[in-house]
Amino acid sequence: MRIGQGFDLHRLTEGRRLMIGGVEIPSALGEDAHSDGDVLIHAIIDALLGAGAYGDIGALFPPSDPAYKNADSRMLLKEVLSKTGHKLINLDSTIILETPKLGKYIMSIRESLASLLDTDVGNISVKAKTAEGILGELGQGRAIAAEVVILVE
Ligand code: MG
Repeated sequence: MRIGQGFDLHRLTEGRRLMIGGVEIPSALGEDAHSDGDVLIHAIIDALLGAGAYGDIGALFPPSDPAYKNADSRMLLKEVLSKTGHKLINLDSTIILETPKLGKYIMSIRESLASLLDTDVGNISVKAKTAEGILGELGQGRAIAAEVVILVE
């Protein structure tokens, strides 16, 4: 068994969709990114790569590569899963976002990830918290971050 850890952070901007774990969340602001900017999936990808000491998402999918412009992060995750050959045991995550509140979307996000990772929803934990209005751009609602820990075999 191997453990992996991942982190990602994106600025929020107008005119972009807010994607979290493959689910589009209704919001005035979305992630500013080369790909679709799904912070949670990006952190999961880094955790999967980290579990195998395979480097990071930037090395695999360079932001300079036009192939990944507005890329669907779910497809990137599928590619990483098949490359690493990891079988997920469980995943725990925390999303840091000031607004909107994510409570009513958590189950959808867990189900989306369980399907992508080919596991039971009981193996996927998604928690959400704010930065209490104080922590820099996160606290001011101008950024979103995600932290992930996974166990794989
Ligand atoms: Mg990212």
